This record gives sequence, C-alpha cells and structure tokens, in this order.
Amino acid sequence: MYGKNAWGKYSGKKLDNVMAFNEEYKNFLSTCKTERLCVEYAVNLAKSHGFKNINDVTTIKKGDKLYATNMGKNVAVFVIGEEPLENGLNILGAHIDSPRIDIKQNPLYEKNDFAMLDAHYYGGIVKYQWVATPLAIHGVVVKKDGKIVDVHVGESLEDPVLVITDLLPHLAADKMQKTGAKVIEGEDLDLTISSIPMDGEEKEACKKYVLNLLKEKYDIEEEDFVSAELEIVPAGPARDLGFDRSMVLGYGHDDRVCAYTSLRAVLDAGETKRTSCAYLVDKEEVGSIGATGAHSKWFENVVAELLNKQNNTYNDLMLRRALTNTYMLSSDVSAGFDPLYPGVFEPKNAAYLGKGLAFNKYTGARGKSGCNDAMPEFMAKIRNIMDNEDVNYQTAELGRVDVGGGGTIAYIMGNMGMNVIDAGIPVLSMHAPYEAVSKIDVFEAYKGYIAFIKNIQ
Ligand code: MN
Ligand code: MN
Repeated sequence: MYGKNAWGKYSGKKLDNVMAFNEEYKNFLSTCKTERLCVEYAVNLAKSHGFKNINDVTTIKKGDKLYATNMGKNVAVFVIGEEPLENGLNILGAHIDSPRIDIKQNPLYEKNDFAMLDAHYYGGIVKYQWVATPLAIHGVVVKKDGKIVDVHVGESLEDPVLVITDLLPHLAADKMQKTGAKVIEGEDLDLTISSIPMDGEEKEACKKYVLNLLKEKYDIEEEDFVSAELEIVPAGPARDLGFDRSMVLGYGHDDRVCAYTSLRAVLDAGETKRTSCAYLVDKEEVGSIGATGAHSKWFENVVAELLNKQNNTYNDLMLRRALTNTYMLSSDVSAGFDPLYPGVFEPKNAAYLGKGLAFNKYTGARGKSGCNDAMPEFMAKIRNIMDNEDVNYQTAELGRVDVGGGGTIAYIMGNMGMNVIDAGIPVLSMHAPYEAVSKIDVFEAYKGYIAFIKNIQ
C-alpha cells in the first residue's frame, strides 16, 4: 500500500507481533553500540539459525546458510538459492557504523585537577548535542603482544558514565553569539574522566590515579591508547517513545535499524529462489572508504569465494555476471518529516513516520549530484512486490531541492552494475545522540525486506 499510515492494519495479536519484534530490535540497539558489537551479535544470531562460516565449507548447494566477516567490522549472511549465483543475488545492504566521538591515540591529559580524554568526532554530528549528556565508552585496546582488551563502561545503572561539560548560561553571553557550527568546537569535545589525585603526587596526580585504575581493571598502560579503538556513545538503552509507545528513542538507528531488519529478513525468510544476502558494512558515515567500507573489494571477494565453492571452478566473468544480475536495496534510513521543521521538506515527497518503508529513488545534493538514480523498471517491480505482499511503503527525497543533501552506499554497489535503490526507515533527529523511529515502520521494513528478497527477479 502506497503512502498510507500503517497502524490501522494491525490490532490484537498482529499488533502484539509488531510490538514484540520491536522489543527484540530495542535489545539489539541497546547492546550493539559499535560496529564490532553489531558483527558479534549478527554472527551469534546467524549461528543460532544454523548459519556456518563460509571458510568452513568447501562446496555449497541450494539451501545452505553461510556467513562471512571482515576484520570484525563487516558481516554478510547468505542463503543459497535454487538459481546459480551467476543469475544474481538479492541483497539487503545496510551500514552498522553510527556518528559518535572517538578517543584520540594520545588522549590522556590533566587540567586543573581533572583527568581528561581528548577526542575526535566521527561522522556528521551536531557537536552541541553531545555535551552535558551521559556518555558510555566501548571498544578495544590491543596490547603490543596482540592481546585484545574489551572496554565497555557506562551502560548498566551501576556503571559510572563520562561527560563532555558545557558552559553555564550565566557565563555564556559571548558563546551564545556564535553560530551553531562553532558554539561547541571540535577540539572542545573532551571527556572528563576523573578527579581524585594520587596521594603524595605533586605533578599530574589525577592522571596518575586514573592510570592506576586502568592498570588494575584492564592491565593497560598509557601508551596502549596508541593501539586502541574506543568509541564514545550515548549511555543507556533504547526506550519506548510516546504515551502510546509507538516509537523507539535510541542511539544509532542510523543505520542499525535497517541493519537489524535486513539481517532478520534474510535469517527469517528461509530459502529463496535467488541467493539472498544481508551485507552489513562499516564507514558509511565517513564516505564508505577503506578495507571495511562499501568501497572495499571485500564483498566482491566473498561472492567470488561463493562462486568457486558452487562451481568448483572460478573465472572473472562469472563474478561479473553475478554482480550485474544482482538486485539490491540499500537499506538506509530516510529523513522523517518533522512537524517542527516543515520548511526543509517538500510535503508530497517526504518520508513520514508511520507510512512504512521509504524508497529514495535518488539522494545526492543540488541537481542530484552524487546520487544513485534508480531505474524506473526496477522501481516498478518493487511497487508490484510491495502491493502483492501488503507492505506499506512510501517514496521520498532528502528534503526540499537545494536545502542540503546526502548519500548512502547505493551508488557504490551500483558501480558494480547492479540495480540498487535506497529503502529505509524514516528517522527523526537523525545523527543526534537520541534518534526516533516508528515501531510500525520498523515492522513494515522487515516485511518489505523479506518481500524483496523472496520476489525480486
Ligand atoms: Mn545512514
Ligand atoms: Mn548517517
């Protein structure tokens, strides 16, 4: 159903299903605050559904369930279809990195009897939203001998949290004259982490005290920060939003809401005619570059491995055919229409919370610059599938023409010759520490993704 509010379709037990699915999603979102944690979660869930590591099988056949990972930051799950891989795959591709604040390599310093951690933000955050709010730290410290120390602090109510302080309004007369982009500067996003001085120390006593704590708890030294990956994110779980509990407020809906629903779709859909795949990728928020971003050759390499395991032989032409014959949804969130800011949207072509899965034929900026403009033939097939499977869906642009813009991994996968369109869940307050989505859209997206991988060809 196109452009209609989806809540009316559900009551009684069906509505309970929608709510129950969202409880599972909330658990994922609350647990998986980094890419690594998302990959771990996805692998465990896939294994519990009978998926095997692609490296542990030598030949593949119809119905096989496989997963592959890359550097702990990408995961792809596959259900091998009836048709040969050369006929193409049906892919749901989402990203599992979210805007956040990273700890620098040489971060620790003492100032006025506080120990502080220097940080560098990741992705497009609105800096002033991240101050004076409880923050958690997640990540790894890798010791020189290769030992990986996991660090997770700030999620349980008993845990301490960290904070980036902000100036009191009484003394902020000058600061309040600054523009939004400058009111909190990038170098001022430093975390306050302790304030007890080490007994008997004259110099850097607070720093020494906290280093002692880190040594005791994690067996790490100051220099170990050099080989660490520590991410600062909003502390605490995702929560129901609204008196009617119709929405979820949480950190990282962009794009973990589409990652979770895509993963679940492939796990729950069972065997499909064409090979189905959920591809969860890193680094989208910083341009999809590097070994773990969508620009990486990793995904192609995995498809090449699959072809080799399917045919017991491999050539480049097979891979090219497989990729060119592929259909993909770039499962990424849309800007939800916000009644407080109607001026930046064009109402006929905006994504609304409650109207289901939102298709963005193109994103980009200005004259669609940098966009993947999906084929109308492809969109027509999708319309047919969504209507046949009773999925509520809508179409949208990223705001009014010339107001701004953005992009996704769609064009990168499109470069391989496949048909790709952006299809995701509308989000309010995107990139803020707490973003909001509608539970009905989460469920309709899950249904829409299943409908897509089962039927597109
Ligand atoms: Mn995104
Ligand atoms: Mn984003």
